[in-house]
Parts: sequence; structure tokens; C-alpha cells
Amino acid sequence: MLRPTIAQDALAWSNRGDRSALERLLLAYPAISSISATAAIALARATRSPLEEATGLPLSRDPREGDAFALWRSAAREARANREPRALELLFESVDRDAPPFSAPALREVVPPSTLPPDPPQPVPTPNRPFSASALNMFVDCRRRWFYRYVCDPIDEPNAPAASYGTAFHAALERFHSEFARPSAALRTEMQQRLDALVVDAFERARPTFDTVVEVELQKQRARRTALRYIDWLCERAEQLPFEVIGIERRVAPTIGDRQFVGFIDRIDRFERDGSLAVIDYKTGSIAESAKEYRERVRRFEDFQLPFYYWSQQLAGESVSRLALVPLKDHTVPVTPIELEVVSATAPSRDNGARGTISILDLERARDRMVELADEICSERIDAFRASTDPESCAYCIYTLACRARPQPEPERFSR
Ligand code: SF4
Repeated sequence: MLRPTIAQDALAWSNRGDRSALERLLLAYPAISSISATAAIALARATRSPLEEATGLPLSRDPREGDAFALWRSAAREARANREPRALELLFESVDRDAPPFSAPALREVVPPSTLPPDPPQPVPTPNRPFSASALNMFVDCRRRWFYRYVCDPIDEPNAPAASYGTAFHAALERFHSEFARPSAALRTEMQQRLDALVVDAFERARPTFDTVVEVELQKQRARRTALRYIDWLCERAEQLPFEVIGIERRVAPTIGDRQFVGFIDRIDRFERDGSLAVIDYKTGSIAESAKEYRERVRRFEDFQLPFYYWSQQLAGESVSRLALVPLKDHTVPVTPIELEVVSATAPSRDNGARGTISILDLERARDRMVELADEICSERIDAFRASTDPESCAYCIYTLACRARPQPEPERFSR
């Protein structure tokens, strides 16, 4: 009987050509050691060649592994060609049924474990650099991932289309608002044309960060359509609450508690009505669907981004009255920011879909929790960086290959 995760990965590979599933299938194949499998995967990724076409195992000198890899490749190709996982299932079942043709070198038989006493526990040295809200978000989401990213720092993050889209769109908006600091409905056509030109230019510059020509064209068209909707929102907002853009990609580095933090605020607006500020974060990925949902994430200490921006400006002597996440992902719907008005500690929460309130008390608690987490990381009291228990945390994690403790996803439903 196959393990459900293997059957699920075989299905994902044969039906959809899911390369992550194929990599997991190689790592799970007992006839090949995890070292050889990991090396083969790393080589295939580095050379951008299909794993199922690889000619051999880079680190293996054992001919049995070479034979096993040839069988595995053949089954992988057959399963994909037929859109049918049976060849892979049979391969895994045969290894489960018979003695595996390869087993890892039996080091324990040569060197008894007792001759290798465990190293004495050592505190993990943590990087001595300012903290960012995104690093703390990662720390609370998955401490293991934070450890890989900020302590081991083992690999460059590969370019992903979503990240390239976000970087290019941010660059276009940065240039746009340096030219249009006071948006208004009277400038609508001029703003539309200028932002469109800047988006096209930004995606042309970002062309090398996309894998294919088709990808860059698709993402550029998505951004151009979204930019039109962004202008609609700017005009509407300027009519309701006239403002001036006073900061774009502003670097902030406040000391909170005894800790140094650092970050970049996408946009800062000053309202003409009372001189207060709105801090704005552009979001090109998924975000909370309502103001209430975002506020609850802040209350559960799962998201520090906007609270951090808030405090960076308050500590600089400003008065921040609004926090906003501006969605720039979906060109098919109007740009409707998730916006929280800052209210007193005693004011009851008010919510109306994308708009709501957040109390100063919630923001103070978030600030104190940021400092607590920074203290914990700096104290070197952490003896183990726990892996997340939520499979969703792993969806975009680039360390899945190295992370043996990652939670297994729920079996996919309706996948056939
Ligand atoms: S694979 Fe999952 S559990 Fe492992 S580090 Fe990444 S997010 Fe954390």
C-alpha cells in the first residue's frame, strides 16, 4: 500500500507536470540515498534541465543507485507521457515489496555511535543586524524558515514571476508619484497615460528577471490593466480626502525599545484636512479580504507590517491616522484598499468590509510584541527553531527540499 503523499505526488506529476511533486518523489524513493537525490535535484535546478531526463546521479558511485535512478526516470517519463501515475506507483510498490536495491552506507556498523559523543549544546548565533517587520512575520509564521533565511542564508531566492511583477510595478509607481504628488480627477487622463508608459518601461527593464518572453508579456499586460484601476482609485480618493504624497519607498530605521528596526514604506500621504498621515503598503500578492481580517492578524501578532510603519512615523513626531494595504494583483476588479483608521483605546471596533478601525491599544501591543520577539532572537535562548505545523506556510517556501520537518499537505481532493 502506497503512502498517501506518494500517491498524491505521483498524481500531481502525471496529471499536471508538478515539478515539486516530482522532486519529492525522488527524495521519497528508498532505492536512492537522500544525498544522491538532493544532489540530482540541485543539479537539475541549477542547469534548468528536466529531472526526469538527468543522465546520472552527481555524487553517487554505487552502480545500484545508478540502475535505480534509470528505473525511476523511466517511470517518471512514462507517467507523465500517459497522464497516468501507474508506472510510478508500480515502481514504489515494487521497492516496498522487495528488498531495496540500495541502502545508505551502514556507517553505524563501521563506527559505533558511542564513539561519537554528541556535541555540547551551543546557542545559535543570530545575525547582528536590524530587524524588519517581514523578518518578524516570517519568524512567527515558521521559525525554521526564519532560521534558514536569516541564520544559514544558504541560497539565493530564485526569481519568481510574482516577485518580478511586484518589483517592476513598485518601480513604476515610485517614478509615477515622484511626478504626481497631488493626484486629482482633473489629471486623470494625463496620469493614466504616464503610469501606463512607466509600467511598460519598468517591465522592459525587468525583462531579464522573467523566465520567458510570454511570462513578461502576460505580467506586463496584467500590470497595465491594474494601473488603470489604480488611477481610478487615486482620483476617487483625492476627491474624498485630498492628500499629497510626501514619501515614496521611504527608508525608516527607528529604535523601538532597545532594538533597531529597518524597513521601506511604499508610500506616505499627508491629508490636507488635518495634516495627519496615511502609511500605505502596495500588495501584489494575496492579502486579507477585509479590514477586520487584517486587524485580527495584527491582534494575533501574525502581521507587523503596518504597525511597524505606524510606529516609525509616530516616533518621528508625525501623527498617523490611517494604515492601508493597496491590492495590485487582480486587474479584473477595482482597486479597493484594506484601510484601517486609527482610533482611541476605548473606541469600539467598526468595520465595513474593506474599511475598519484599529485601536491605539492594538498597535501598542503589536509594538511591544515586536520588541519581545527581537529580544528573544537576540538572547540566543532558542535551542530549536520549530517548523510550522501549517502546510500552507510551506506553499511558497524555497527550503522545502532541506526541511525534513515540514508538515505534509492534506491529500488533494478532486485532483483526478
Ligand atoms: S518547508 Fe514549511 S516547515 Fe519547512 S521551513 Fe519551509 S515553511 Fe517552514
